Amino acid sequence: MPELRKDPIIGRWVIISTERGKRPTNYPASGKMILPKTCPFCPGNESATPPEIIAYRTDGSGRNQPGWSLRVVSNKYPALIIEGSLNREPIGIYDRMNGIGAHEVIIETADHAVDLVDMPKEKIKDVLWVFRERFLDLQRDPRFKYILIFKNHGEAAGASVEHSHSQLIATPIIPKRVAEELTGAKKYHEYKERCIFCDIIRQELSDQSRIVLETDSFLAFEPYASRFPFETWLLPKTHITNYIDTDIDIHIELAETLKDVLGKLKAGLADPPYNFIMHTAPVGSEYRDYYHWHIEIIPKLTRVAGFEWGTGFYINPTRPEDAAAFLRDLKVSRKAVAV
Ligand SMILES: [Zn+2]
Ligand SMILES: [Zn+2]
Ligand SMILES: [Zn+2]
Repeated sequence: MPELRKDPIIGRWVIISTERGKRPTNYPASGKMILPKTCPFCPGNESATPPEIIAYRTDGSGRNQPGWSLRVVSNKYPALIIEGSLNREPIGIYDRMNGIGAHEVIIETADHAVDLVDMPKEKIKDVLWVFRERFLDLQRDPRFKYILIFKNHGEAAGASVEHSHSQLIATPIIPKRVAEELTGAKKYHEYKERCIFCDIIRQELSDQSRIVLETDSFLAFEPYASRFPFETWLLPKTHITNYIDTDIDIHIELAETLKDVLGKLKAGLADPPYNFIMHTAPVGSEYRDYYHWHIEIIPKLTRVAGFEWGTGFYINPTRPEDAAAFLRDLKVSRKAVAV
């Protein structure tokens, strides 16, 4: 059973999960990804993953059979596990609880060779829509306080399987990074009675210099205090606290916007490894006035090293204005690989 332990000094929870140590990619000496001979995410290998939670099929094929275009399964090597109770308890001055949570894998396409960015926008919309479906389902579980959807693209970003996929982890506490955003946004709201994210959107639209692209409903830009070169945020332009409240009619526009942003990063930076994270409000309605869902895309172009670990400062060698100008001017064809 994985375990959650709380750092008594700064209050950050750590997951001690020995299950994951059993992965085939466990600390390879060469630093190279060891790929399994058969891909567990390819059609025909459904038995290599835990049973499917949900799949999109149009051909009437049965569960855990080929014929799907998108498939969600539990992670075979979960960081947190779904069965059990939290059992929070003190150990002397320390705090611990059982590693209860959900850890799922969203296999975005049946085609091994196609990345998310190259999928047709209708298929990207399906991926975004299934994120919403999983949020809706998991938020009914009272043990879960937060659900994070993320994607690791490329080995340097932490992907251990080549086949395009994203992941979801539901946690029994609100993670520290999210709590920092919530606290900051709440303080701003108490003082100004406005949403900080809405104000940032207004400011970016008036400055223009950090905008990567703008559509009717979405804005992609490089944040003013970007931690990393080409760090890119994507937000709905109207105030939407929770991702689940994003309508089906703007999902196709979101898919298109995401495809364009990822396409620019891929074309301009030679298909960099990246992390994609979706920050939405925690379960509950008290964040409604001041939190605003968004996507953060962080290309892995620099390494986080001693100074960053020691201080929490990041040294960014590229001005966000220069990164935005470069991406904005890049013309990328939207031609998709058919899947
Ligand atoms: Zn595959
Ligand atoms: Zn807002
Ligand atoms: Zn965020």
